[in-house]
Amino acid sequence: MSLANGRPYLAIPGPSVMPDAVLQAMHAPAPNIYEGGLVTLTETLIPDLCAIAGTRHHAAIYIANGHGAWEAALSNVLAPGDKVLVPSTGRFAHGWADMAEGLGLVPEIVEFGTAATIDPARVAEVLAADTDHAFKAVMFSHVDTASSVRNDPQALRAMLDELGHPALLMADCVASLGVERFEMDAWGVDVMVSASQKGLMTPPGLGFVFFNDKAAEVRAAMPRVSRYWDWVPRSKPEFFYNYFGGTAPTHHLLGLRAALDMIKAEGLENALARQAKLASAIWAACEVWEEGGALRLNIRDRALRSHAVTALGVGVGMGEKLRRWTADTAGLTLGLGLGMSTPEDPNGTGFFRIGHMGHLNAHMVLGALGVIEAGLTALEIPHGKGGLEAAAAVIAQG
Ligand SMILES: *Cc1c(COP(=O)(O)O)cnc(C)c1O
Repeated sequence: MSLANGRPYLAIPGPSVMPDAVLQAMHAPAPNIYEGGLVTLTETLIPDLCAIAGTRHHAAIYIANGHGAWEAALSNVLAPGDKVLVPSTGRFAHGWADMAEGLGLVPEIVEFGTAATIDPARVAEVLAADTDHAFKAVMFSHVDTASSVRNDPQALRAMLDELGHPALLMADCVASLGVERFEMDAWGVDVMVSASQKGLMTPPGLGFVFFNDKAAEVRAAMPRVSRYWDWVPRSKPEFFYNYFGGTAPTHHLLGLRAALDMIKAEGLENALARQAKLASAIWAACEVWEEGGALRLNIRDRALRSHAVTALGVGVGMGEKLRRWTADTAGLTLGLGLGMSTPEDPNGTGFFRIGHMGHLNAHMVLGALGVIEAGLTALEIPHGKGGLEAAAAVIAQG
């Protein structure tokens, strides 16, 4: 007998659950990549993506995951030897900084650990000393998917403006686009990167780079840009083939169109409100479980918690055990702890993450929480009673 049989549920922080409508849209014969429906469909994607990003400026689509989008963004506005400042709140800013280093850039990390948000005052200290403006960009993750903190782009913009520092502000929204409010133009973000497989509910394989006119000017002054990553032919193609630097990612485009149609039909504001509400139901359960003393939400302040993912500590070895239990016994796959190693727990086995981005509703959240509660009981992990009830009460408020 297995209670895991039935529809499996992948609740890791990307790739996220794929809607049936996305899968069905991709179940199509190979389209013509030179003219016809796919060309007109692709032209509709850019404005819809820009609307979700809160920009009236430019976007380029790459056949790439988030790492590819990272490299694409860097390649267009930074040259070997350029210094970049990287406030880090977990794992992902380190990844982007490493990508920068591979391109010959010189990243300097300002470290905020794995359970805090960026303190703009500490970033300002570094930039205030940079009187000759050697730092060409400040790069950060909007949501760090490892720690599950959400950083504030507006605070970084205000800090740059106050100092009169011309560095580009570059945001990684791979985890947050379509889940968290993001107003690229209003918040003064110059370059933003994202990808298809998290809030945008499409299989991994499409990377997005959004950029404003200031970033476009920096690109125009670059002595050399990698042909493949160059955003110029992709954002203003004279020939459809050039959108993608070669053959279009045909079926991903079909899937993305279906996903964006779902967001449009729901309304972006409604989708963001749904994500926020579902996140608060998850926290309500976790906060009750915390009373047992073993479980701990990694980000203490609700205002700083991401609506896309929640990271939890549960004691050395137990995060790993709980994940195994929920997957094997109940068909629920939770995310592993990332970047949470300590001397006592070098592999971060004490952590797990609940991915709650994208195609997700109340019954999925209550189901996942019920399974986690069953797992806590089965594994005799001390936990406060009534977590599921607390989550149900949040859902019941509507
Ligand atoms: C998932 C993620 C990435 C990496 O995306 P890949 O598609 O795995 O390359 C980068 N940044 C953040 C914030 C992410 O959540």
